[in-house]
Amino acid sequence: MGEPVNQAAALLELQEIDLEIARAERALDELPEKKAILETRAKQREVQTLSSKADLLVSKIEAEIRKAQDETAVVQGTAEDEQAKLMTGQINDHKQVQHISREIDSLRRRKDKLEMDTLKLMERLEKAEGQRDTVRNALEQLAERETVLVERFREHGGELQQAIADNTARRKSVAASLDPDLLKRYESLRGMKAGIGVGRLEGDSCTACRMQLPAESVASLVAGPDVGVCSHCHRLIVVRLEDEQ
Ligand SMILES: [Zn+2]
Repeated sequence: MGEPVNQAAALLELQEIDLEIARAERALDELPEKKAILETRAKQREVQTLSSKADLLVSKIEAEIRKAQDETAVVQGTAEDEQAKLMTGQINDHKQVQHISREIDSLRRRKDKLEMDTLKLMERLEKAEGQRDTVRNALEQLAERETVLVERFREHGGELQQAIADNTARRKSVAASLDPDLLKRYESLRGMKAGIGVGRLEGDSCTACRMQLPAESVASLVAGPDVGVCSHCHRLIVVRLEDEQ
């Protein structure tokens, strides 16, 4: 802690650094990428649910098609067996022949019905696959978007974090050059008054509260030390810098 060169200048520098840190912290918190990443992730979860449903529907229809095709094969086989019985000519009983013929007709109708069902299922499958692909594309696009946003967030956030680290280091050395009592007053005012602990007297106004001070207040400040107190906002007020004298 060296002997201070210029308390007023150090105080103003400290205020400037503190404002820069506060700005960087706010900017970090309000990075548009941060909000966009959160929104993208929420959307991803939503679309993922749709995607699972679409996948499920596709496999359900595929299973129904397999079932219909298996059944078609069985019906076809049975019809062929029955047909074969007739062809061998071993069955001479008229009623039995009639019975088998009716059975074959019924099996053919059943097969036609199954084939019709399969066609309808195929149409439903095509539709479901289309929906599934649309949802998958949307998911891919969201994933790409998230990657880009995270990269940008790292870039911008990294710059801000570096600025905060640099300013925090600078702050330490400036604060060390200030009179401890003055530093304590500044810190306490900054905490109470929205991050601003010190202003400057510019003409007859305080730069912190932007108020015009009464002539007698200005006169008393000018007659006093480099650092006084604003009669309006009660913050510290730099009346003059050494090199201005
Ligand atoms: Zn003021």
